[in-house]
Amino acid sequence: MVICRFRSLLSLSKTNSFFLSSPSTSFSIRTFSSSHIPQHLQNVGFVGLGNMGSRMAINLVKAGYKLTVYDINSDVLKKFSQMGVSTKKTPYEVSEASDVIITMLPSSAHVIDVYTGPNGLLHGGKLLRPWLFIDSSTIDPQTSTNLSATISKYTLKEKKGDQETPAKLEAPVSGSVIAAEAGTLTFMVGGSEEAFVAAKSIFFSMGKSAIYCGGAGSGSAAKICNNLAMAVSMLGVSEALALGQSLGVSATTLTKIFNCSSARCWSSDAYNPVPGVMEGVPSSRDYNGGFSSKLMVKDLNLAVESAKHAECKYPLTSQAQKIYSELCNGGHEARDFSCAFRHYYSGMDENQDH
Ligand code: NAD
Repeated sequence: MVICRFRSLLSLSKTNSFFLSSPSTSFSIRTFSSSHIPQHLQNVGFVGLGNMGSRMAINLVKAGYKLTVYDINSDVLKKFSQMGVSTKKTPYEVSEASDVIITMLPSSAHVIDVYTGPNGLLHGGKLLRPWLFIDSSTIDPQTSTNLSATISKYTLKEKKGDQETPAKLEAPVSGSVIAAEAGTLTFMVGGSEEAFVAAKSIFFSMGKSAIYCGGAGSGSAAKICNNLAMAVSMLGVSEALALGQSLGVSATTLTKIFNCSSARCWSSDAYNPVPGVMEGVPSSRDYNGGFSSKLMVKDLNLAVESAKHAECKYPLTSQAQKIYSELCNGGHEARDFSCAFRHYYSGMDENQDH
């Protein structure tokens, strides 16, 4: 095991605030030697070093992977360079230097651009170095499926065993920025099962669980369904707790009841939306941090589009989409999505007099 010391770095803008903020102190990143990592997994390219990606990339560095990174944000690249991580000027240069590529980008359009745009990961003819591409962005299943089909038309510069064609997995994550930093994300993985098994150690360097969902597109589909259920259950809990307050039952009392009754769910027992009921959750810090209403709208838009595509009914998705869009239009787009309790239902903080 090797202990590496890096100088503390000035914090970046709020989108990339993973560095310790004091320039006068130093911090250590404990890294493991790369000798335990099979050679075909050692050189990892990472594109998209935002709130999530920067933290995931740092966990890979800590685990001993040799990283090469790119982001359009030159400030964040500079910070990685100062940490001794190799940085490149285009996604294609990252691709040329890596055996495995991970992308963590805002939306489908960004993913398409980074893969197939000029100087994108797939630039440079039909031969590719990376044997595996992993896209962890939350995007629509159709784009994930199309991208897998595109990548399957390429050929590996060097065969990997019997494999002649690069593999592609989509592996969107559940878990916030905190989970990305702690390395406790959950990956929902779609694509080749063989590639999933081969890449497991990479997932477990950034997360606590990786669940194989099926063929291409199924990981993206699973992520959208997870967030749809989360959005609706958060609204259900918020609506019930606000009604309870109006009927004279405190949120603390109702939460106790929910958590040992049939209404118990993550929104009631782990991420309670009422300020004053639970410590350490966004509602306890004025809905700062956590998962923004803006990202929730993005995911609900994906769910609506997917439901239309699959010709499924989506009354609750549609209603949740409307409520979260209203919250964003009302100036709460950066607040955690549990703010629906206060800003949509006009629920009261628990420490207020009722
Ligand atoms: P972010 O906006 O903080 O980061 C995205 C990064 O991609 C930025 O650094 C940006 O500069 C970079 N980027 C954009 N276009 C690029 C390009 N063409 N080439 C290279 N880099 C480019 O987003 P995030 O919060 O890190 O989220 C990333 C993905 O993870 C999204 O799909 C999001 O829905 C999903 N997600 C986010 C959270 C969360 O809590 N933030 C949780 C789960 C999943």
